[in-house]
Amino acid sequence: MYDVDNVRADFPILSREVNGKPLVYLDNGASAQKPSAVIDAITQAYAMEYSNVHRGLHYLSNLATEKYESVRGTIARFLGARDENEIILNSGTTEGINMVAYSWAMPRLQAGDEIILSVMEHHANIVPWHFLRERQGVVLKWVDVDANGDLDPQAVLDAITPKTKLIAITQMSNVLGTLVDVKSICAGAHEHGVPVLVDGSQGSVHAPVDVTDIDCDFYVITGHKLYGPSGSGAIYVKQARMAEMRPFMGGGDMIRDVTRDAVTWNDPPMKFEAGTPGIVQTIGFGVALEYLMALGMDNVAAHEARLRDYATQRLSGLNWLNIQGNSATKGAIFSFTLDGAAHAHDISTVLDKKGVAVRAGHHCAQPLMQHLGVTATCRASFGLYNTEAEVDVLVDALNLCHDLFA
Ligand code: PLP
Repeated sequence: MYDVDNVRADFPILSREVNGKPLVYLDNGASAQKPSAVIDAITQAYAMEYSNVHRGLHYLSNLATEKYESVRGTIARFLGARDENEIILNSGTTEGINMVAYSWAMPRLQAGDEIILSVMEHHANIVPWHFLRERQGVVLKWVDVDANGDLDPQAVLDAITPKTKLIAITQMSNVLGTLVDVKSICAGAHEHGVPVLVDGSQGSVHAPVDVTDIDCDFYVITGHKLYGPSGSGAIYVKQARMAEMRPFMGGGDMIRDVTRDAVTWNDPPMKFEAGTPGIVQTIGFGVALEYLMALGMDNVAAHEARLRDYATQRLSGLNWLNIQGNSATKGAIFSFTLDGAAHAHDISTVLDKKGVAVRAGHHCAQPLMQHLGVTATCRASFGLYNTEAEVDVLVDALNLCHDLFA
């Protein structure tokens, strides 16, 4: 039985006040709060166990290396990867997608080759592909969402041509909450020999993930949304794709031998991890994933589904609130604007006065904003510690906005 009060007690920040009101943290889509287990692990790592990894032979270096390296296995378990060597550790999704762009795509794609994207991608899954468009003449092909904010997997597959070299698609929209059937997209794409990169930044946070079952080629995650430290993350890379990648960044750790005239590489995945990594961030990330697995991602998903249903019911009662996206398979993320033309920033400022933290702006998803015909929305994004009572606080605060701005 999932006891949300017990879960909340694990997150010290949730007991604080903001502007004289109890904090109602609904900005999880941007970054999630950290449980004590993660905070304690970071303190312990810096206070008693800190050293650089991989290079030393002394006790602390071995200890730090062991703790750091064990996270690779934790991530593999969390994602359902068969082998921990399919996991490249990094600083988060943005680095992960850039690595795929530089390491895998740039050496392989030529002018006229095509990459398929959905219109609801985050800029982190758009801009690295624009580099290829600008520098190499690669063509970006966009697939729209329908009026509910759903992405039809068949529409993605219909966009494939003999020139298609990659599909890069989110598993869950950070704006609309729409869930995408990435497994069907992978199955269909592979029939044409097209690899698929799945942006799991949001999808991995709200439900169990099994990359082996999805059968994607690349799956990127970011630690700070998974209740871990910022500056941590990983990419799952299918072994066949890993063999096709060339190193993106050069430096220490990723080499075997360096001479004046030549260099040889370490084995993958180390070949793709140059320099001193985010040691403590990654250790904290591992603890966050252990925390999630102990809670059970099925339980997290069920809790958030209840929140989504309750929030949908309460928010749809506000007939002056325009909720963007109405997918039957969405997660607990709500983007909205208000009749009366109050700007999203004004709404979020009023909510903040009531202790409610939401995000306002384009959410790093400008092509989606253009598709929706808005410049900005307010976004309430729920996490594993939110409650139905907090939905009520949000609704009361929105009613106040309506009174002020209508
Ligand atoms: N992709 C999606 C769907 C996101 O929501 C985000 C963050 O908001 C990112 C990518 C980028 O993640 P990061 O800033 O941690 O690299």
